[in-house]
Order: sequence, then C-alpha cells, then structure tokens
Amino acid sequence: MQTELAEFIRHTPEGREAEAILRKCVHCGFCTATCPTYQVLGDDLDSPRGRIYLIKRALEGAEVTGKTRLHLDRCLTCRACETTCPSGVRYGRLADIGRAVVEARTRRTPWDRAKRAVLAWALPRPRVFGAALTIAQALRPVLPAALQRRVPKSEEAPAWPAPRHERRMLVLAGCVQPGIAPGINAAAARVLDHIGISLIEAPGAACCGALRFHLNYQERGRDDMRALIDAWWPMVADGSVEAIVMTASGCGATVKDYVHLLAEDPAYRDKAARISALTRDLAEVIPPDGPRPRRAALGRVAFQSPCTLQHGQQIRGKVEALLAASGYELTTVHDAHLCCGSAGTYSLLQPAIASELRGRKLAALQAGMPACIATANIGCLSHLRAGTDVPVRHWIELLDAAAA
Ligand code: SF4
Ligand code: SF4
Repeated sequence: MQTELAEFIRHTPEGREAEAILRKCVHCGFCTATCPTYQVLGDDLDSPRGRIYLIKRALEGAEVTGKTRLHLDRCLTCRACETTCPSGVRYGRLADIGRAVVEARTRRTPWDRAKRAVLAWALPRPRVFGAALTIAQALRPVLPAALQRRVPKSEEAPAWPAPRHERRMLVLAGCVQPGIAPGINAAAARVLDHIGISLIEAPGAACCGALRFHLNYQERGRDDMRALIDAWWPMVADGSVEAIVMTASGCGATVKDYVHLLAEDPAYRDKAARISALTRDLAEVIPPDGPRPRRAALGRVAFQSPCTLQHGQQIRGKVEALLAASGYELTTVHDAHLCCGSAGTYSLLQPAIASELRGRKLAALQAGMPACIATANIGCLSHLRAGTDVPVRHWIELLDAAAA
C-alpha cells in the first residue's frame, strides 16, 4: 500500500516500522473473513482492512476523531487477521502504533478516562486486585444474578511441591491469576515436578505489562515490563533457571514480544531479548506424550484455544495433543480461530460485543456436549465461566487431575 507518512512520525522508529508494515498490505481483504468484530458488526471500518486504512490516514496526518478511536477500541487485538493474511502484515504492531497516535490526538469523555484509569491502576497490582476480589466474593450472595456470575467463587491456594530438582524454571504468578485461580500455577508445579522440573516464582515479579500497554498506557506498560525483567534478572543472569514458563498465554505472548517492545530502550534491550528467548508457554515444556502414560479414558473436553496462544504465539495443537495423551476425549469445536470476547480488559470496556462473542464461542464449545471446557488463559477462563454452567478449567489442571 502506497503511504506518505506525516513529518511528525516519518523519521521515528515507530514511523519506519509502521511504514514497512503498511507497505505489505495489498488491501485484498482476506483478513475480514476471520475478524470477529467484522462478523458481529458488518462494518468494513471494524475489519482489519478498514482499521489499517484508518491508521494509515492518521499516520499521514489526516484528522482523527472519536469515531476513528472507536473503531480501534472495538478491535480485540486478537490477531486472527495476522494468521490469515497472505502478505504477512503485522497488524497487532501496527495497531499499537496507530492507537498511541490516535489516543494522543483525541480526548475521551471523563467517564471513559476514569474507567480506564481505575483498571490501569488496580488490575496490575495483585494485592489491590486480590482485596477487591475478596470483598466482591463476600458480597456475592447478595449480588444480582448477572453480577454474581461475574464474580468468581473463592478458591483455596493449594500447596506446591518443594523445589528438589536440578532443572529449575521460573514461572510468572501474574497479576489477576493468583486471585481468581490460584490452583493453576500449583497444578503446573506438580505436573512439572513429575517430569523432573522444579517451578519457582521470583519475589517481586508481578504484571507482564500487557494490561496497561493494551489500555494504551504504553509507557506505563513498558515500566511494568522493566520491573518484571528486574525481578527475574538475578536468576536469569546467574544461569540458575533454564526457562521462564507462562501459564497464561496472554502473558506469554507479551513476554515473548519484549524483544520488540523494548528494542528502543538501550538500558533494557539486551535483557529483554534474553528474557524473550527464554520464555516458553507451558505446553512447550511438557513432552508430547504427557507427564504420565495414558490412563483409563477420562471425560469429554472442549478446548478453547486463546488468541494469544494460537495467533499471538502461533502455538496450535500442542495442548490438544497433551490432553488426548492424558486420556481426555477432545470434542470438535467449530470456528476455533475466533476470539471468545475476553481480550484483556475488552470484556469490561466493550461488554456488548464481548458478550455476543462469548455466546457464539460457548455455543461452539458446548455443541459436542463436553463435561468440561479447557482453556490456556486466565482472562478467557473467567470470561467464559461467567456465561456457562459447564466447568471451565485451565488445561494444566486437567493434566494434573489425570496424573494424580
Ligand atoms: S492485512 Fe493482509 S489480508 Fe488484510 S487486506 Fe492487508 S494484505 Fe489483505
Ligand atoms: S486483531 Fe482481531 S478484532 Fe482486531 S482487526 Fe484483527 S481480527 Fe479483527
């Protein structure tokens, strides 16, 4: 696509990157077929092709308005369009650059600004989020039914196996996962313990930065990334861990991208590259035949592959193979490439579209009459749980149960 970027951005690293991405787009529109928001809203400006056009115009210096921002806000950043695009257009990175420009040139309503500021302040702080969750759980019995479904039931934090193996890997606790589902990392620690790997958490390691970055507080998101690198660095630098394991695919996609997101920071670029190179999704560190030999047939499971796993990290089929190797029967899920509507804070900021996408996703997941729905990301897990009575678990909890 022919582009003529405006002076304000043309000679910046972001401008050069955006121009290279824009030049690859041939405007063919193949990507619209797999865009969830285009499927729901039917407007070309809510498709990848339309959004690329809006970003191009903004970077060329055209006027941007609240309407421009609305079409970018409605994008889930699911990156299904990247998987579909035959020209290799890195839409997600272009959207980051475009959103920063549009955010700086428009003004949100006070209510919109307040909502986003509260989310950006509270969610990346595990203690603040944990305290708010505890209050909401205490009030759960008296909440209206619709709100009750959105507040997860309280879960006990199970014990971890003591570190006893020479092979050690770091695991990220994350910001909201320890409050909502503390059993996930404990299950991961038990499963890896079976195969001779001790999982450890680094003191002070908190949010990966995705939450604030995708709320368009991009520099504060980068501050979270730097803080996490600082927390991990002593164990990475002395070689005492061989990998960094992610149990939430959303965090995994972000940490694997530190190499690009901090590329312009001379103090952190080398560390960021090392951290990204060491990062693995949990499914990448468990051997394909699972932690234990196949046992008796277990229940039917529908796997929801989060966008951050299948599009962000391009990991497909590994979790399904592990579940099958452990004795679960996988059901067929149609349109498995489509987002469930969770997308970080999207379900809170765009509730109508998120709810429509969840309804479609749950219909596809439940069509095969599963006993359980499995997923790989805490955001998808809590979003899906709020819409169904079928149990929704992280897949590692199912592997843990199978190995018990
Ligand atoms: S992003 Fe890719 S698939 Fe979409 S219009 Fe551009 S070239 Fe075509
Ligand atoms: S990231 Fe997802 S929602 Fe956004 S344009 Fe691409 S396919 Fe559509």
